[in-house]
Amino acid sequence: MSGADQRPGEGSADDERGRELAARLTVVRHRVDEATHAAGRSDVPTLIVVTKFHPAEDVVRLAALGVRDVGENRDQEARAKAAETDRLAGALAPVRWHFIGQLQSNKAKYVVRYASAVHSVDRDSLVDALSAAMGREQARRGESGLQERDPLDCLVQVDLDPRPEQDRPSGIGARGGVDPGQVGALADRIAAADGLRLRGVMAVAPLGLDPEPAFARLAELSAALTRTHPDATWISAGMSQDLEQAIAAGATHLRVGTDVLGRRAPVG
Ligand SMILES: *Cc1c(COP(=O)(O)O)cnc(C)c1O
Repeated sequence: MSGADQRPGEGSADDERGRELAARLTVVRHRVDEATHAAGRSDVPTLIVVTKFHPAEDVVRLAALGVRDVGENRDQEARAKAAETDRLAGALAPVRWHFIGQLQSNKAKYVVRYASAVHSVDRDSLVDALSAAMGREQARRGESGLQERDPLDCLVQVDLDPRPEQDRPSGIGARGGVDPGQVGALADRIAAADGLRLRGVMAVAPLGLDPEPAFARLAELSAALTRTHPDATWISAGMSQDLEQAIAAGATHLRVGTDVLGRRAPVG
């Protein structure tokens, strides 16, 4: 790269925005290290930087700062951004895309083209759609002489909010996720599906409630899951506001947006 079609400074980490991201990232990484140490853990959780509402140039800047995992919650935005990131930086921005939002089954065919993981698997029909889409994607790659892709990493999203849906404040995670009692069955379906790899569980702490009991419950569900699926060890939990509590409860993957990228209104 560094080819003719890269504008000067575009997406590199040494412009003003790059320095801002570097500073914010340093603070978040420090918080992660402190919380990991405080929890007596030696395994540092993976930081997934949630780049929704922010442009591909920021993904390229983050990649230059060593970020390898980014998260998105809308297919349309993610699809365009993944393509743009590739166009801007190609192999110089080797990021994995984690899909973390509500996913319609008819979008599965797009998601399998760019995502390495889907954290928000919440129903049988989505498992079937993702598996079928993976089959077609591998066939497409074969016909185009491309390498097979890795299996799609899948997590069962769990709904840990004790309140009935109509009593919840609206916001991230207000909907979505299976009841704790349904985790086993959905996990079995993922594990049996061609093209998918069961990785673990994911949750968003109930908005406006203490996150601790929710994360403790998620840890219990994870422990139960790994008794039947020993490799499904991922616990995706913790956002800007509650990453310390999530780390204390054993989170292996954090999804942090605002505290790295700052605020920005949804576009479109
Ligand atoms: C946006 C989002 C995050 C990141 O939240 P912040 O509070 O911005 O850190 C995490 N998880 C999901 C599912 C999200 O949609």
